Parts: sequence; structure tokens; C-alpha cells
Amino acid sequence: MQKFNPEQAMWNVRREFGEHGGVTPSVSRSSTFTVMDPCIMPEIFEGLRGPEKNGCFLYSRHFNPTVDVLARYLAAMEGTEAAVCTASGMAAISCTLLQLCQTGDHIVSSDTVYGGTHALLRELFPRMGISTSFVNPTDTQSFEAAITKKTRVIYTEAVGNPTLKVADIPALTDLAKTNDLTLVVDNTFTPVIVSPAQLGADIVVHSLTKFVNGASDVIAGVICAAKPFVHKLMDLHTGRVMLLGPTMDPRIAYDIIQRLPHLALRMREHGARAMIIAARLNEMGVDIAYPGLPSHPQYRLMSRLINEGYGYGGMLTIDCGTRSRAEDLMNVLQNEERFGYIAVSLGYYDTLMSCSSSSTSSEVPPEDQHKIGLSPGLVRLSVGFTGSLAARLEQIERAVKKVGLVR
Ligand code: PLP
Repeated sequence: MQKFNPEQAMWNVRREFGEHGGVTPSVSRSSTFTVMDPCIMPEIFEGLRGPEKNGCFLYSRHFNPTVDVLARYLAAMEGTEAAVCTASGMAAISCTLLQLCQTGDHIVSSDTVYGGTHALLRELFPRMGISTSFVNPTDTQSFEAAITKKTRVIYTEAVGNPTLKVADIPALTDLAKTNDLTLVVDNTFTPVIVSPAQLGADIVVHSLTKFVNGASDVIAGVICAAKPFVHKLMDLHTGRVMLLGPTMDPRIAYDIIQRLPHLALRMREHGARAMIIAARLNEMGVDIAYPGLPSHPQYRLMSRLINEGYGYGGMLTIDCGTRSRAEDLMNVLQNEERFGYIAVSLGYYDTLMSCSSSSTSSEVPPEDQHKIGLSPGLVRLSVGFTGSLAARLEQIERAVKKVGLVR
């Protein structure tokens, strides 16, 4: 079987040209769409007509032609039949899980997921009668042990935020299939690099806010899945995306469409630079984690999971031990060296850095942070590709020496 190539898959999709033969797609901003004959409208509501059936659009919270173009490209990138774009990554995650789970149901989730996801599962869902057991994503048996009669979903991030632990997606796929569960994978950290659906996952979600858009100027998400699930999400009477309404604006869709052609190039460069910086810091004795270094506990697994030629991703962590030392490091990197910016989020062309335990993972209680190996001094870096690599290496070397991180 030929290896999956997400980059090529995206460009095998029918190209969408704009009005008047524009090489870029048109932005269809209409919130509602007219029908030429009144009898067509009831047929849309009955599901007899729609974007895929005679090209009928109804209302942009349902389907919108421009947002649909982006959805088709992203479905192709992940190798799923279809996709639905959403207003944020959190909307993609919450709508997916609310479509799959009802009151009384149970989720088994990785314990190292984005803080917002953790809060959704730990704080909000229990109020709706949906419970979650959190387990170590590197230990497939712990997922198995947590499955109960009420479990519906196995949830993980391909590479966990912020610890960079790698989930064994093929093993979780087997477990999900054996127990008739749905495996949902958040692939925000590794677009193009890992293709969870090709490894067996049922549903792939992304925060497009990050690497996929790449410019830190939009909030967006996507759910990539088989057609029946996408139709469920968009069902006019029961669909969670349709009824909860986290709709993507067509202007946002257009912006992201314009950035997809260089996503693979960007991911290669993020990964190449992160690898060189991680290797140098590792040689210097700095306590770092990067899934592309043989010293990373899941390096061999990660090497098996990735698509060839896109590297190991742009995320690395430096454990400074304490929060105050982490803040010293970020201060030097931003304000003295101009290496990057102290900011949450990731996937920008410049380097972004944050101290996870007191920021994006602060929703995780301290005892759980300790359990998952999240130190109060962990600095998460999303390595950018601006400036010369040689200068960036000098900057970070000086900074880690100044803060006393060299053993
Ligand atoms: N998934 C991961 C792995 C994230 O890091 C984030 C945000 O940081 C999200 C989901 C949520 O995405 P958004 O901010 O687009 O809602």
C-alpha cells in the first residue's frame, strides 16, 4: 500500500476557483441562500437536498460554500471522508464529545491534554452527567483498565499538551474497536506530521488557531470524520454543531485556505529548527523534552507514527524546576535576547513561550500536575522560524547559561 502523503492528498482535492476564474476561491458571505422554487426549501429540511445533493445551500450556520472548501481540504489532509469547520478548537472538541456522549456516559481520556479540554471534561461535563477517567497516554493498558460499561469514547492528543507525551494511536485504535468505542484524537500539535485517521482513529479534531493557520490572527477549529458523523453534527434538528452554533465565518475560512499551501513547508521548518535547538540544549545538559530526540521516552513510537519528511514538530519543553526560574528564562529570552514572545498559544511563525502550570494548564489541579509530570517550572516553547538559526542558537544558549540551567 502506498504511504499516505497529507500534502499531496490536500492537493488532489478538486480545486475551488473564484468567480470570474479567480485563482483563489470567492468568499461567499451570504448568511442565507435563495431557492428558485418554493418547493425546494422543504426538501432541504427533509434532507433531500443540500450542498452535496444538487448543490443547495440553506443558511450559513448549516453549510456555507467557502467554509465547505476549507472543510474539504482539511478532510483530505487527514484522509477522512468529510469535515466540519468550527469557530474554535474548543468548539470542535465539545461538539464532538457532546455528539458522542449523553447523560450517564463515560469517557477515558489522556491525563495530559490542553487545560481547556481538561476543564471541559473535569468540571463542565460532570454537571451534565458525563464522567471522565484520566489515564497516562503512554500506557495503553491504563486506558483498558478504565473502560466501563458506560464508556463511549477514548480521547487523546496525538502529542500531549504540554508534556509532549506521545499516544500509541494504533494500539488505542485496537482497544477502541475491541470495545466498540470511538477514538477521538486532537492533532493540533502535529498537523501533516501525524495522520491519526490513517492510524485508525475515528475522529480527528484540531485547533486551527495554531499551526494550521500559522499566523496567530484567527481562532478556529475542525472536526474530521466519516460522512455519517459529520451529517449527525450538522443535522438540522439534533446536530450539535448546528444547534450549539459555533459557526466559522467564511472570511476566516478564506484566510485559512490561503495559508494551507505552505502548511507543510512551515511544519518542516518548525520541526527542523526545534530539532536543532533541542539537540543543542540537550548536549549542554539542559532538562528538555522533544519527541525527535532519542532521549525522549516515546521517540521510537513517534518515529513509527510520523509521516516521512515533515520532522517531529515545533514543540519542545525546558524544565526550569521552579516557576521563578521559568519566568527568569522567559524574561531573558523575550526582553534581552529577542528570541520570542511570552504568550500562550502556539504554531506562530515567531517563537511563543509560556509556563504551562501557571497558565494554559492552570485548570489542572497541582496534585494532578505532579502526577502527569508537569513541573511548575516547565516552559513550553513553540519554536518559530523567523530570523537566522545561527543567531537563535546563540540567543538561547546565552539565556540558559544566564539563568543557570546548564548542568
Ligand atoms: N487543543 C489543543 C491541543 C490546544 O492547545 C488548544 C488551545 O491551546 C485547543 C485544543 C483549543 O483551541 P482553541 O483555542 O482554538 O479553542
